[in-house]
Amino acid sequence: MTAAAPGRRPGPVTVRVPAKVNVQLAVGGRRPDGFHDLANVFLAVGLYDEVTATPADTLTLTCSGPDADQVPLDASNLAARAATALAARHGLEPRVHLHIAKDIPVAGGMAGGSADAAAALLACDTLWGTHTSRDELLALCAELGSDVPFSLVGGAALGRGRGELLEPLPVGGTFHWVFAVADGGLSTPAVYKECDRLRDATGQGATTADIPDPEPSPALLAALRTGDPAALAAALDNDLQPAALSLRPSLAATLTAGTAAGALAALVSGSGPTTAFLAATPEDADRIATTLRTSGTCRTARPTTGPAPGATVVSGA
Ligand code: ATP
Repeated sequence: MTAAAPGRRPGPVTVRVPAKVNVQLAVGGRRPDGFHDLANVFLAVGLYDEVTATPADTLTLTCSGPDADQVPLDASNLAARAATALAARHGLEPRVHLHIAKDIPVAGGMAGGSADAAAALLACDTLWGTHTSRDELLALCAELGSDVPFSLVGGAALGRGRGELLEPLPVGGTFHWVFAVADGGLSTPAVYKECDRLRDATGQGATTADIPDPEPSPALLAALRTGDPAALAAALDNDLQPAALSLRPSLAATLTAGTAAGALAALVSGSGPTTAFLAATPEDADRIATTLRTSGTCRTARPTTGPAPGATVVSGA
């Protein structure tokens, strides 16, 4: 294998990549392979990680940020796996140092690891001059994880299957959000397992034979299209929320505190434990964030907006 493709760039390349919130997460029954079909409406929001790729002798990884100590720095890191997959695709060795400047909560239900994988793919592709087509990049993303393609694309999109079959969605405005960051993370597989357990416990059953096929909500898609926050608030829905609340009962107090502070709606973000609050205006979002920060029900609260662009080269291109 060669060290790098012709046309490689000598300098560092930095890619900025957004977090996501699932404005709808409809979870089908457990399939025989253990996965669940989803109707997953993703919205990218303005909390960002940055991944910087620098030429190096071997693949190495560093991470900075408040949660850096919770990020694995070995081959299991999704950014490292992405660099290795891209290098293999082009017959190269992954001779790169990746630095992750981490601002997305870790294990927070906001797809931070997936974001870093998409960012690493784009950063390495730019650094190595490998000119991977968009379709190939999306295929590599889907192999790395079901949330990774959306991190590349950003905006808003409907994910079907395990979430990896993406259809971009039109959004008619900017939505104002607050994200309350919890102490500690929740394991996504554990939350799906709890969802199955709760469905079994209610007698409903948890398999594809018991649960209707998940479908996107027409009202929710219309609310995104028109950019109407009140309509979006009425349509927000997360089938994983009961499971996240069952595993982390303290999240109920966070949801109540944000709603009492004036949020139009509150929900658990993906598999949690981050909670998301939709606000009518930027001023409301700031007020809700300030109230949440002093409520004693979360570690911190971050106002931001969505949709946000997908992974983007911000320097070194
Ligand atoms: P999702 O919303 O996609 O289910 P999440 O936001 O809940 O994911 P992540 O932040 O992606 O969770 O982290 C899940 C686990 O993945 C972490 O506990 C960590 O061990 C592992 N991990 C691997 N690579 C990374 C990375 N680059 N950043 C954060 N965690 C990573």
